[in-house]
Amino acid sequence: MKIVNDPVKAQKIIKELKLKRKSIGLVPTMGALHEGHLSLIRSSCKENDFTVVSIFVNPVQFGPKEDLNKYPRPIKNDLVLCKKAGVDLVFHPMAENIYPQGYKTWVTVDGLSKELCGKSRPVHFRGVTTVVAKLFNIIQPDAAYFGQKDAQQAVIIEKMTQDLNFLVKIQVMPTVRERDGLALSSRNIYLNKQERQDALVLQQVLDLAKSVIKSGERNTQKVIFLMRRFIEHKNSAKIDYIEIVDCNNLLPVKIISGKCLVALAVWIGKTRLIDNVIVTSNR
Ligand code: AMP
Repeated sequence: MKIVNDPVKAQKIIKELKLKRKSIGLVPTMGALHEGHLSLIRSSCKENDFTVVSIFVNPVQFGPKEDLNKYPRPIKNDLVLCKKAGVDLVFHPMAENIYPQGYKTWVTVDGLSKELCGKSRPVHFRGVTTVVAKLFNIIQPDAAYFGQKDAQQAVIIEKMTQDLNFLVKIQVMPTVRERDGLALSSRNIYLNKQERQDALVLQQVLDLAKSVIKSGERNTQKVIFLMRRFIEHKNSAKIDYIEIVDCNNLLPVKIISGKCLVALAVWIGKTRLIDNVIVTSNR
């Protein structure tokens, strides 16, 4: 397994692979790898000749008051996991490799980036799309793997790929959960024992939404009201948002019909967690 931090070196390796007509899969991550990341990595290894995992805690997608400095960076363990999973190249740049002095170019997907998480994290998606566009240019993958856990990110990346004519197939993989339902996240390690227990509320209210919709409720405000009431019973939980939106444009819907995304962000103590589910109704 190769480990490279210089984009120019990575591009050299990629050029040779392209000459040999090897297919390339890319899995962009911020490290602190868990089974969620590994599920994307395994899919890439299965579907491509060569798999690149990028590990980069991208500073520009963190707001000034967010957890950039304390974000976990267990790089040694990440490298062991990548090797075990059959990764061919880990691209692990430093911030200055990606944003050298004088860096000036940004990629923004209008509209979509302002919805859901964009309301409380105004610079987040600009940071994500900028770094992913750069990764697409450096690695030139045939396919790139993202998790449904970050549903809004997946929609935005798909739009960027289409709008900028990247020849990359975007693969969105299902959310991997703990046995008790909590979606795996690198941020779960911030939770103490009580908060870890309280964090189950995210999955529980998504299940609640699914079941009330299944039993015929179509009014999104009513579903959201029930979800809010459930969460407000947990002392350590504070709702950032709960929304039911159109899967494509991420705009709120009043009446559930067809496929909708139920998405939420909840603070558990000082940790902000997100989760979502897609619901379908036929009438
Ligand atoms: P991150 O390192 O948090 O930026 O995540 C890197 C990629 O892994 C993103 O595409 C995430 O959506 C995906 N991912 C994170 N957690 C999970 C999970 N529990 N299940 C599936 N994919 C995930």
